Amino acid sequence: MKGSGKYHKQRKRVARVHSRIRDQRRNFLHQLTTRLARRYDVICCESLAVKNMVKNHNLALSISDAGWGALTDMLRYKATLYGKTLVEVDRWLPSTKTCSSCGHVVESLPLDVRSWTCSACGTEHDRDTNAAKNIEAVGTTVLARGEGVSPALAHVSGASFDEAGIPPL
Ligand SMILES: [Zn+2]
Repeated sequence: MKGSGKYHKQRKRVARVHSRIRDQRRNFLHQLTTRLARRYDVICCESLAVKNMVKNHNLALSISDAGWGALTDMLRYKATLYGKTLVEVDRWLPSTKTCSSCGHVVESLPLDVRSWTCSACGTEHDRDTNAAKNIEAVGTTVLARGEGVSPALAHVSGASFDEAGIPPL
């Protein structure tokens, strides 16, 4: 019942749980970004228009973009700290919907579709790994126009942390 001692006790417990999850998530992001910045000379990531995405409730829940915003903020200052290069690829790039093998762009790819097959070339894709490959390709093209840098790259996108040799914490 609202106003009763039991109600307040329950509310306090819920608040504490949320706070702990937030702390754990921040610790995870700190450990991950430090490892990435130490290990790689160049990191390519996608910059998300966080404010626009939060307006879309379903999208915000699906990709947890507040966490992504915190991750890119940390990557930005840690790359500077360790003297590394961070390439942020604009959000307009259809990284998810573009086939990284042939460049074919699919019309739509709902958020619950985790893997798909390109209708043009038949390549099977993991959603996140394919997006990461596209981000890397654009990132390295951007860098190639500038001065020479080490080719070591980290795909900063979901599943491909494994490929980069960084196990999930
Ligand atoms: Zn294709």
